Formats: sequence, C-alpha cells, structure tokens
Amino acid sequence: MRMTDDSPLTGTTLTGTTLIGLGAMGTALARAWSTAGHKLTVFNRTAARAAPLVAAGASPTATAAEAVAASRLIVLCLLDDAAVAECLADVDLMGRDLVNLTTSTPEQARARAAWARRKGARYVAGGIMAVPPMIGVAESGGYVLYSGSQAAFEAHRHVLSVPAAGRFVGPDDGAAALHDVALLSAMYGMFAGVAHAFAITRHDIAPKALAPLLVEWLTAMASTVHETAERLHSGDYTTGVVSNLAMQVQGSATLLRTAEEQGVGSALLAPYLDLMRRRLAAGHGDEDNAGVIDLLSARR
Ligand code: NDP
Repeated sequence: MRMTDDSPLTGTTLTGTTLIGLGAMGTALARAWSTAGHKLTVFNRTAARAAPLVAAGASPTATAAEAVAASRLIVLCLLDDAAVAECLADVDLMGRDLVNLTTSTPEQARARAAWARRKGARYVAGGIMAVPPMIGVAESGGYVLYSGSQAAFEAHRHVLSVPAAGRFVGPDDGAAALHDVALLSAMYGMFAGVAHAFAITRHDIAPKALAPLLVEWLTAMASTVHETAERLHSGDYTTGVVSNLAMQVQGSATLLRTAEEQGVGSALLAPYLDLMRRRLAAGHGDEDNAGVIDLLSARR
C-alpha cells in the first residue's frame, strides 16, 4: 500500500516519537523533546551516544527496525542521505510518518521521498536552520523548513515545533532542501566577504574594532535582497538604479589594489567582481547587480 496525504492515521496507539541519529544535532533535538516531557524512543548506530538521553528518560532500541516499530512519527537526523539509505535499508516503514531532517540536495530529497512512499510511509523533508545550541530555545530564531506531505506535517506539527519553529514551504519534496541550500549558500558568500575583510585589516585594525562596523554594514546592506527580488520578479534591472555596474566595476579596482597592497589574495573577491565585469562588457553598465544572476542561471 502506498500512503497518500489522505491516508488515515493508522497505528494511533503509537503515541510517542522515534528519533534516529544522536549526533550533535540529534542529541539537541532529543533533549528538547525530553525536557518537554515527550515520550521518546531513540536509536543511534553507536549505542553509547544514547546513554545521557536514556538517563533523561528516552527509551533506547538495539536496532533501527525496533525504533521504527515503536512510533508512528519517525524523525531522522543522520549525517547525510547515504547514512539514511544504509540505516533504513531493510526496515519496514509501512504506515509510518517519516520526517527526515538530514541535510540533502533537492534531488536526494525527492528520491528519498519516493523511496519512502514505495515502502508505505508518508514523507516530510526538513532542513534545519539552526545550530545545536539554538534547538529548544524559542528566542534563538532557529527554525526548520519542511516540505512534502502537508497532512503528515500538520498531524505532527505540535511535536515538531518543540525543538524549533516549523515553516512548511510546499508540497515539492525538494523544496525544503532547496530553501535550506539557498540560505546556506548566501551565508557562505557572507563568510567569504567577512574573511576577506578581516584578512586585509588584520595587521592594521583590531578585529574587535572592525567587528561591530562589519555587522552594522552587513545588516544595512541586507535589505538590498528585497530590491534584487523585485528586479528579478519584474525583469526591470535598470529603473531607479542608484549604484550602477559601470561605477561599481570602476570602484572594484580599488578593492583589488587594496588587497594587493595589504598582501592579501583576492581568491574570495575576484569571482564575483569578474561576473560584474562580464555583465558590464555585455553592455549592461546601467544595471545594478541583479543582472549578474542571469550570468549564473539560464532563465527557464
Ligand atoms: P554528527 O556528525 O554529529 O552526527 C552524525 C549522525 O549520523 C550520528 O548519529 C552518526 O552515528 C550517524 N550516522 C552517520 N553515518 C551513519 C550510517 N551509515 N548509519 C547510521 N548512522 C549513521 O552530525 P550532526 O548531528 O551535527 O548533523 C546531523 C544532520 O543535521 C546533518 O545532515 C547536518 O547537516 C544537519 N545539521 C546539522 C547542524 C549542526 O550545526 N550540527 C546544523 C543544521 C543541520 P554514529 O554516532 O554511530 O557515528
């Protein structure tokens, strides 16, 4: 039998939650549920990692199959998709609701969802936008992106929202992963810029003096994300441009020369500046930076 979003909740005697994977993130999730008094069954490949959680009231199992048999709601938090495949290879998932918080690519998430449904489970894909210390701390701002079966998500929302708020982003099984990776990719762009800024100032400006200025500037610049979205939405890259590409490319020479003067490589800076130069060379000097996105992605 293939579970659909309309499948009734069977196995309603299975009231607790099973969590598979007790690494840094899984342990944080387990602690949040234990603290909230939830009935929790746990399994980890390396059994010793479950000991502190068992002391806090969780029930351990010797195998993944026993853990899956114990609850209707199965939460996975393993290293990667290959670990999920290995861990649940021969496990009966019939009638279960699988919520997979393992970081995956969108394609991996879609394939894993199809695999789970073939095995008779409903499937919700998740992407955790938090680090372990943010889990179970409502004011931390951490949250989890979910996609896939909305019915399964809604059925378990009250449990899933204990460790972190949940945001359902659509029925596409790959949507949570794509949102997750988009946010993480933007974060690494910011990390790259911050690393370059600290590198060029390292011997001349105290890092602690630069840090508040960096935070202030990055926070102020963050609102340009909305302008870029508006331009991508409208297709109008030129109306109301305040810092055009021609000016920015001219100015970027100063950035590269300063790096050279400070004896710092431009490996983190050059790729983006190169894209700006290419867009200018293609005759788009009156745009701002939105056009650079067209160089990276063909329009569908
Ligand atoms: P850890 O490396 O701390 O833990 C990995 C977990 O996966 C362990 O429970 C490990 O078991 C298990 N595992 C690995 N391979 C297998 C396998 N072949 N079979 C069974 N179990 C396996 O990672 P985290 O807990 O930090 O991360 C878990 C997920 O959460 C990842 O997908 C990560 O991207 C995501 N995440 C993590 C964040 C973080 O800051 N930590 C932030 C956001 C998302 P064992 O103990 O036996 O090795």
